[in-house]
Amino acid sequence: MDLTLSADELAFRDDFRAWIADHHPGSPPSNVEERYYWRLEWLRELNRGGFAAMHWPSEYGGRGATAMLNAVFFTELARAGAPIPANHIATFMAGPTIMQWGTQEQKERYLAPMLRADNVWCQGFSEPGAGSDLAAVATFAAREGDEFVVNGQKVWTSEAQYAHFCLLVTRTDRSVAQHKGLTYFILDMSSPGITRRPLRQLTGESEFNELFFDNVRIPASSVIGEVGNGWRVAMTTLMHERSMIGAGYGIRLRNYLTVVESHLRAHGLLDDPIVADRFTDLEIRTRALELSALRQISEAQARGSVGSEGSILKLMWSDTYSRLAEFAIETVGPDALEDASGWAWEYLRSRASTIEGGTSDILRNIVADRVLGLPRAR
Ligand SMILES: Cc1cc2nc3c(=O)[nH]c(=O)nc-3n(C[C@H](O)[C@H](O)[C@H](O)COP(=O)(O)OP(=O)(O)OC[C@H]3O[C@@H](n4cnc5c(N)ncnc54)[C@H](O)[C@@H]3O)c2cc1C
Repeated sequence: MDLTLSADELAFRDDFRAWIADHHPGSPPSNVEERYYWRLEWLRELNRGGFAAMHWPSEYGGRGATAMLNAVFFTELARAGAPIPANHIATFMAGPTIMQWGTQEQKERYLAPMLRADNVWCQGFSEPGAGSDLAAVATFAAREGDEFVVNGQKVWTSEAQYAHFCLLVTRTDRSVAQHKGLTYFILDMSSPGITRRPLRQLTGESEFNELFFDNVRIPASSVIGEVGNGWRVAMTTLMHERSMIGAGYGIRLRNYLTVVESHLRAHGLLDDPIVADRFTDLEIRTRALELSALRQISEAQARGSVGSEGSILKLMWSDTYSRLAEFAIETVGPDALEDASGWAWEYLRSRASTIEGGTSDILRNIVADRVLGLPRAR
């Protein structure tokens, strides 16, 4: 693994750093909806600068960047305190999935508008009875001529309140093994028969929703990757999701750690050996995550695709993020309850990080099974 940046990578880093300095979007609005649209505008701005989809091939409007250059991109965003742009379900999940499994017509129709933020995307995988066990999806799509008619319910659908399109996994065949009877669709969210109902989270905000489908009609041309192949297409999306969360958000933990360190130093708290010991533990975990991200990037680059190792990063990120937020709450004390400090929000939000994109238990199973090749318990 080579961790030194090449001359081209260094040149990109300097260019992008200068570009962010000129285009920084400033501080985030406190309202969740305003914050979402502010991050969407940031995606548009990045697109105008040619930075919206570093990792996409240039034929689709990306830069054809290597995984390492993409890491430089995320590192510079974090370093400048600039947000990760909104619509990541489009740019990091839907886009790569359509590139791998979509028809030429689907690629031409859907990819370019994602980067311009003309369309917002959501991910309709989870259901009340199918979260970790995604193969248990019960929402049913029945074929009727050139269309499918969908009935059922999704839950925890992030950003569905803003979405124009949804990556929808449905059952189309109940007579075969569970994971063989699934089909993956692009659903136009303006179709009649869709009800969106926001769900309130621990933070008091509503990032996600319930979705109800009542005889929703989807043209057969909106299937991605063939009828009955939905499981494999969904795995592509999930691998990209976990890699993105681990690498994109993982890199930002360094910022949190720096803020905590300043507080500890300002209040002489590092003189307490127990506090110093816990801080050092977090420093080691953060560094381990940074290096693991670089190792994964290096491996993905050599292989030409992301793999199950993204699960390690997502697991390490959510675990370290949760520990860090808890440590911050304890050491900052009652001031952490002030909205301006942001720590109470981070502490509450960090709980969700161990669930979204696959729970920590499930990711440990994946790492044991597919990365380490350990024998299965049953
Ligand atoms: C902030 C947030 C955003 C989300 N956004 C989306 C979204 O946009 N689209 C979407 O489709 N979903 C989304 N989700 C849903 C998320 O993917 C699911 O919550 C997750 O997969 C877990 O499913 P579940 O909630 O049904 O829990 P369950 O699967 O019922 O799990 C309950 C508990 O049992 C454990 N468990 C289950 N099976 C096993 C096993 N085999 N071995 C060991 N332990 C196990 C789990 O780890 C967990 O602790 C989001 C979730 C959150 C928190």
